Amino acid sequence: MSLLKNLEKLSNACGVVGREEEVRNLMIEMLKPYADEIVVDKLENVIAIKKGKKGSPKVMLAAHMDEIGLMVKTISKEGFLRFAKMGGIDDRILLAQRVIVYTEKGMLPGVIGSKPPHIQKDAERKKIVSFDELFIDVGAENREDAAKMGVKIGDPIGFDVKFAEIGRNLVIGKAFDDRVGCAVIVETLRKIGKTDCTIYAVGTVQEEVGLRGATAAAFGIDPDVGIALDVTVAGDVPGVKDTDTPVKMGKGPTLTVADYGLITHPKILRLLKDTAKKSKIPYQLETGLRGTTDAARISLTRQGVPSGTITVPTRYIHSPTSMVNLGDVEKAAKLATEAIKRIKKTF
Ligand code: ZN
Repeated sequence: MSLLKNLEKLSNACGVVGREEEVRNLMIEMLKPYADEIVVDKLENVIAIKKGKKGSPKVMLAAHMDEIGLMVKTISKEGFLRFAKMGGIDDRILLAQRVIVYTEKGMLPGVIGSKPPHIQKDAERKKIVSFDELFIDVGAENREDAAKMGVKIGDPIGFDVKFAEIGRNLVIGKAFDDRVGCAVIVETLRKIGKTDCTIYAVGTVQEEVGLRGATAAAFGIDPDVGIALDVTVAGDVPGVKDTDTPVKMGKGPTLTVADYGLITHPKILRLLKDTAKKSKIPYQLETGLRGTTDAARISLTRQGVPSGTITVPTRYIHSPTSMVNLGDVEKAAKLATEAIKRIKKTF
């Protein structure tokens, strides 16, 4: 299936942190044709293995399957749901969003409600409404009714956003952080054909709450090289200055030089830059961004693993709807593919 179709399916699926099953099933289906073996480990990371030559480097590719979201915390007598935040969510983006509560009985649409502005005092209007003052209305008449609908404490809640193509070669949708990386991994395996390296293409769990899945997966795999495929902030929107970040959408994938959790191994950075140059893939460089990727944990596995990241510039990260340029996504996959082919010369 095409990269576009894969990204659409992955984006529309539910993968709220700790509840990645739907995304994992898609990843298994998409990776199967290109893998010699597929394993789901104890934390439920999915690992697709493409075997190479004996004695060649083991390469771990990682993209996280989880997305930021919410979780049912309590159900009020009146049938309204209070929620916990899963992952880094800015309270300001929550107001009035349409959401889906994923219950055992199925998907329940709902809306995040708050006190209407008409009855707010002046001081209230000026302040940011904290998430714990908000509630989700699924149309339940009371607590018992909500229970009948299937709502339980701990049910995951995702944003109700559908994937769409817009503008010129752009797409918008939910959870591009990191379904874009998932799509890049699938595309990389699809494109790579025969290589000497053994590739471990991993869809990781629980990245948004502290890179947990990657930590366990990397220990098990014990790779020689780690590359995280993820997204990064595109700064080409009003209010962001060039001095904040030079990264722009449509200018190719981004290579992290250093972030809050990783200083990209010099050999990996050199490999990625040289590959981009040789294969005529435009790329951007980035450093100093708050936050990090699975590569941070892979790099600290056992005695250390040379690691780096390839990211896709993305507008409106960690909000219900993000935007990427499909050309950037394709180029990220091409860079990963070509880099893997050259790894043996470097290591
Ligand atoms: Zn991410």
